[in-house]
Amino acid sequence: MISTACPLCSEELKNHDKEKIDKCLWRFAREARNPIVYASRTKLICPTCGEEMLDHNINEAHECVEQFIRDVEEMDIL
Ligand SMILES: [Zn+2]
Ligand SMILES: [Zn+2]
Repeated sequence: MISTACPLCSEELKNHDKEKIDKCLWRFAREARNPIVYASRTKLICPTCGEEMLDHNINEAHECVEQFIRDVEEMDIL
């Protein structure tokens, strides 16, 4: 199970409404798959495995992003 804090805005995922979830998930999915984007910003900690996204290779990043999206969907927020 994932931690319930959003990797992007640090607020509890449970406190996100659908619009905010969409925004955060979309941004996370985009940034996590784009090392050039997230290398220039503050650390992005992977909500799935707890490691920095920079420590992921591209395959791991994709897997973690997909797992995170599945976990969020299972939380019944969407
Ligand atoms: Zn968020
Ligand atoms: Zn990860």
